Amino acid sequence: MKDITKSIKIQTERTQHGEHSTPMFLTSSFTFEDAGHGKALFNNEVEGNIYSRYSNPSVQEFIDKVCMLEGLEVGFATASGMAAVFAGFAAHLESGDHIISSKALFGSAHQIITQILSKWGITHTYLEVSATEEDWNNAVQENTKMLYCETPSNPGLDLVDLEMLGKVAKKHDLIYYIDNCFATPVIQKPAQFGADLIVHSATKFMDGQGRVMGGIIVGTPERMEKVTFFCRHTGPALSPFNAWVLSKSLETLHLRVEKHCENAGKLAEALQGLEGVTKVNYPFLDSHPQSALAKKQMKSGGALVTIDLEGGFERIIRFTKLLTIPSKTSNLGDTRTTITNPNTTTHSKIAQDIKDELGITEGLMRISVGLEDIDDLIADFKQAIQGSK
Ligand SMILES: *Cc1c(COP(=O)(O)O)cnc(C)c1O
Repeated sequence: MKDITKSIKIQTERTQHGEHSTPMFLTSSFTFEDAGHGKALFNNEVEGNIYSRYSNPSVQEFIDKVCMLEGLEVGFATASGMAAVFAGFAAHLESGDHIISSKALFGSAHQIITQILSKWGITHTYLEVSATEEDWNNAVQENTKMLYCETPSNPGLDLVDLEMLGKVAKKHDLIYYIDNCFATPVIQKPAQFGADLIVHSATKFMDGQGRVMGGIIVGTPERMEKVTFFCRHTGPALSPFNAWVLSKSLETLHLRVEKHCENAGKLAEALQGLEGVTKVNYPFLDSHPQSALAKKQMKSGGALVTIDLEGGFERIIRFTKLLTIPSKTSNLGDTRTTITNPNTTTHSKIAQDIKDELGITEGLMRISVGLEDIDDLIADFKQAIQGSK
């Protein structure tokens, strides 16, 4: 069976009621047949659910689907994407360890690496987006334990060569940890390049409709053992209600992501060259400096487009006032097109020198292209760009 069919067919075992749609297991704990069964469950002698901080059938259904989509065996679902990102770090890194990452990272990931891990004596090296295989190899120290990257990155849409990173990780026996949120497993599968831990903000395309928060980390059994232990005992567990919503949404993930990408490609092309737009950034545009790499490791260009508008923040205010279709919000991955100014929102707390290097300018607008009619969207963007001059 293909992934699309499996996304629909994977389902919690039917109960005696023969329900068609998958049920929602809103229960904090599970009963034992008798004290002996309870003892056996706690001793791992029999399989079964004990307590929803550890596992829950609705949550497991969501995990099973993401493991299938990413081609990895074990997962743990969390209340938000950041809880999953953090769990991957905290479960593996110890005081004295070192991690290497590309500079192009989601704002909160930066905060974890620079403000939280550093408190525990975990050091890091940030590499330029343009770093070569040699640069990555040279950055490895005796105490390096992990490579962490996001590709494409939020909001710069910078790419990291997953195959190259896989070689570096293998050569130095490092944990290879990827945030695959922007691409989704529909268009990019990092495990094919050797990634052994993959994290997602399920809040974005997996939900796809801006309703619930969630996160998930999946990996090989070896890499997930410590993560599962960490999560079971520190309690970032995903709510079964949210898991049910997310699992249902995965049934349409392929359909939605393909349409998102088609619309994003068309919008990017239409905005190129408009007066006042100094730059349009989209991985599959020929003008993207890494378009060849994008075409090598991604099936399509993704749903995110960024543009640079000239005229300063006052122009941005006028422009967003005139836009009628997109929601002005920091979320992304929604049926509705969303738009935000990263410099003053998602990345406002990032040091100015890093912002400069990542191209997070005053006029940068991050657009998550939705599923509206593309002609309506293009017309709306054109009138708002024109009218805000
Ligand atoms: C949103 C996002 C996260 C964080 O996810 P939350 O669900 O908001 O905690 C992590 N990585 C990327 C790339 C994101 O876009």
